[in-house]
Amino acid sequence: MKRLAAARREVIAAMPRIAQAEVPLALARGLVLAADVVAPHPVPPFTNSAVDGYAVRASDTASVPVELRVTGDLPAGVVSSAVITPGTAVRIMTGAALPGGADAMVMVEDTVVIGDRVRITRSAAPGDHVRTAGGDIAAGAVVLRRGDRLGPVHLGLLASIGVAVPVVSRRPVVAVLSTGDEIQPPDTATLRPGMIRDANRPMLVGLLGELGVEVRDLGIVPDDGRLLRSTLEEAAASCDAVVTSGGVSMGEHDLVKQVLAGLGRVEFWQVAMQPAKPFAFGFLGGTPLFGLPGNPVSSMVAFEQFVRPGLLAAMGATRLFRPRIEAALAEPVSTTPEKVVFLRVAFAGPNVVRSAGGQASNVLSALAAADGLAVIPVGVGAVAAGDRVAVELFRADESRTLAEATDD
Ligand code: AMP
Ligand code: MG
Repeated sequence: MKRLAAARREVIAAMPRIAQAEVPLALARGLVLAADVVAPHPVPPFTNSAVDGYAVRASDTASVPVELRVTGDLPAGVVSSAVITPGTAVRIMTGAALPGGADAMVMVEDTVVIGDRVRITRSAAPGDHVRTAGGDIAAGAVVLRRGDRLGPVHLGLLASIGVAVPVVSRRPVVAVLSTGDEIQPPDTATLRPGMIRDANRPMLVGLLGELGVEVRDLGIVPDDGRLLRSTLEEAAASCDAVVTSGGVSMGEHDLVKQVLAGLGRVEFWQVAMQPAKPFAFGFLGGTPLFGLPGNPVSSMVAFEQFVRPGLLAAMGATRLFRPRIEAALAEPVSTTPEKVVFLRVAFAGPNVVRSAGGQASNVLSALAAADGLAVIPVGVGAVAAGDRVAVELFRADESRTLAEATDD
């Protein structure tokens, strides 16, 4: 059996790189930068006020209260050539450029207007409530690096320095299909005996969507060698990667395995992991193919361990793996020491996890209730209650109800 780490490394090393493209920010979420980004100008671009209030010379406010003559009014976007002289102040709004001569801001809350004068009730030190040009980003600084994946905040950061069309890896197109004579569309009204609904395809489409690739949903393909072959050939010719579910284990009707063996360079691995021991990886032409096992939990775990990092590597991402935290396992478990075991766990408290339900590879309900996968490494056969384990988080979305939210 192949160790998971070795299998993962092999997949990542074999992934062909996706070509570069210039993509507008509005379409760039989830894509990976193909080059370092350098700030062409400082941010903020000019020294400005962090508050609504009065621009002053700090030395004028050394003893308070003090009255200063107000010589102007600066809304955001307006720049004044006036210079603040001793004994004067300019009323300015948050974001307006600090006028010459001023070295501090007094918040409007610490002032009283008296005709054309303002009484300052709190002393200001030089630099108070002032945002210096370049205080966030210096001109010429590397803002983001090649290999960084663009989340919403990164898009804002790029916009702030005028990089409206970053150079990224083009969005990959990934085909997904389910196999199996027993697999029926989710909207099947009444299941005939022996049939089950296709749980994997909606899940895989969702996982691919979350990753930010363009999904080509090829539906359900029955266990028919000819049909499977033509579908896979067509998918490989038109997509950057193909993901299949089912048909890669030891059964006679595990046709994905047979068809692939006849078509291209494909390897079938028994990976030392549970769930998701059977897994196929290879190439049809130059297109990578991931043959995931049919049991839904196995399919999801194999996606997380191979497809997600593999596609991120193809996009040129530096960071390939989900975050892991350490948490105490609330109850004891025994696992097979020959394999790395991924337990479906949910938070039971801060840094405490418990089993999220049944741990068999068909039990999707427990995976749905889980916040993460506790990773019990090869060589470990038992974990005692309270022992710390690594937990790989696969849900970045909300995990706490209003009742569970803390009083921040
Ligand atoms: P296979 O990998 O094709 O041998 O399938 C293993 C198990 O997963 C069998 O019990 C299948 O019925 C089930 N299975 C296969 N594909 C799916 C799917 N798309 N949705 C839900 N269960 C599936
Ligand atoms: Mg099958």
